[in-house]
Formats: sequence, structure tokens, C-alpha cells
Amino acid sequence: MKCPHCHALCSQGDSVCYSCRTPLPTSGGGSTRVPIPARVSMIVMVISYCVANALIPEDYPSKSTNGFNLGRAACLGAVGCVAGPIGYGLGLLFDRRRRPQDKTTLPV
Ligand SMILES: [Zn+2]
Repeated sequence: MKCPHCHALCSQGDSVCYSCRTPLPTSGGGSTRVPIPARVSMIVMVISYCVANALIPEDYPSKSTNGFNLGRAACLGAVGCVAGPIGYGLGLLFDRRRRPQDKTTLPV
């Protein structure tokens, strides 16, 4: 790949151009960290599952308590489906790696 600033030839794994010392754009191979909104979403889903599992009664949709209660499992899944996007939205609030603001100045 080429450096976008000085057009020097750089290798694929380089994070900094060795000619002009500017950071190179990473094409997904650099960082393997999970983004913060995805992490917060996962944490909120797990917590909501635990809370829902404690609060929803054992015989919630159907009164039979023997065997696998499919309706209750579906309710737990629905709680996770609601809590996941909420957690993602919360994670977006905590994301510190925001794009720098576009500083457009008006010509005087
Ligand atoms: Zn360069």
C-alpha cells in the first residue's frame, strides 16, 4: 500500500509511514478489539437476561411446569432482543473514539 501523504511504499501491517511519520489508515487488520458499543450491548444483554430470568415466573405463559417451557424461553429471548439495541445506544454515548469534528471555516 502507498502512504496517502507522501506516496511512499509501506507494508500492509504498518501503522505509521516510515518516511513521513504520519499514521496510516488501518484496513481492519490492525486492531482486533471489540468496539465499545458492541461490548456495552453484550453486557446489558447478559444483565437483562439475569434480571428477566429472576423476575419471570417458572410457569409464566403456560401453567405446566414439567419439561421445557418454550414460551418462557421466548420471553427471555425477547427481553434480550430489546435490551441489546438499548445497550448499543448506551455504548455509543461512551464511545471515546469519535471522529474529529469537521472544522470548516468560512472564507473571510
Ligand atoms: Zn508517508
